[in-house]
Amino acid sequence: MIYFDNNASTPLDKDVAEVVLKYMCEEYANPNSLHEFGVKMDAKIEEARFRIAKSLGCMPFEIYFTSCATESINWALRGVCKANTKYGKHIVSSNIEHSATLNTLKSLESEGFEVTYIQADQNGEISLEKLSKVIREDTILVSIMAANNEIGTIQDIKGMSQIIKEKNKNCYFHVDAVQIAGKINFSLKEMKCDLASFSSHKFHGPKGVGILFKKERTRIFPFITGGSQERGMRGGTQNVPGIIGTALALEKSFEHLEYMKEIRNLRDFMALEIEKMGGKILTPISEKSVPNTLAVFFEGVRGDIIVNALSDEEIFVSTSAACSSKGVSGSKVMKALGYDNEQSKGMIRISLSYLNNREETEIFLNKLKNILVFLNF
Ligand code: PLP
Repeated sequence: MIYFDNNASTPLDKDVAEVVLKYMCEEYANPNSLHEFGVKMDAKIEEARFRIAKSLGCMPFEIYFTSCATESINWALRGVCKANTKYGKHIVSSNIEHSATLNTLKSLESEGFEVTYIQADQNGEISLEKLSKVIREDTILVSIMAANNEIGTIQDIKGMSQIIKEKNKNCYFHVDAVQIAGKINFSLKEMKCDLASFSSHKFHGPKGVGILFKKERTRIFPFITGGSQERGMRGGTQNVPGIIGTALALEKSFEHLEYMKEIRNLRDFMALEIEKMGGKILTPISEKSVPNTLAVFFEGVRGDIIVNALSDEEIFVSTSAACSSKGVSGSKVMKALGYDNEQSKGMIRISLSYLNNREETEIFLNKLKNILVFLNF
């Protein structure tokens, strides 16, 4: 089996799996219980929060645990908007965001908030100039993704933070940071955003754990109300095994970054070979994209046909974002970048992890070549 769909989900790290199992089977007490067993689990969560904050470059009390990045994004967007209406009701985002952001914004629009969507350029870059022009006095939130899940383009988050704060000091900046963790080096301290969302299963951690970074003093309402967990900001018994596993997975993801140089070489090599086969490359093949991602299309060939043919050979890639790739409606990001409906149905997304190697890329390229011959491309 060759697994090239790591932007959808990554395999759980073996050491992390051991930790998760231990905290499921042996250290299972509720961290909110009064007894010693519970107090011990609470201390373990706080230790994990400390380690995660250290890895991300923030303070432990700025870290909140959720069930996935979709929940973190919902919380950041809805929580900030509802808590800041006295400053305005205008939000800025882009047209290439993940559906977790786009559908939450749609819902906020129906509740009376106004959203300006910045159009990314053909490489998926969001210009600082455009951002600067759309921030108004009543803008309360900007939400932009650090790296695009379909084509991998990285945004200048630090530059955006600077512009946002210069234009409006009451405006908060949320970053969907899901696709940078484990792929490039970064620090929340340098990014200077107010909120950031992460998902553990994207960096070899367990599914079912999200992180929301919320800078101290950011005005936000809770999203999940309930008990006093997470300092009263997110009710519900914490996923202790998942949280402790996430701390380890995140630390290891930074250690694995050195392998990403080789992964970038493999990605660039595949891009060259695919171009020779007549493929069109959507991902910017430069430092402006995460090293593991390569999105391509073959004019006139539907992506799902190639994905299914590769799947028959036990090679797993995807057509676009995993959460929308089951239909044949095409890549939302390609459409947003100006490609037509037919072209957008052609996307093939290849996303590697540090576990992949050159031999796998060569097998993949050979199979792809055969499939294209079979399809008379
Ligand atoms: N944001 C981006 C950029 C993503 O790629 C994803 C998942 O594909 C999400 C948010 C949602 O993450 P989760 O699966 O943890 O809800």
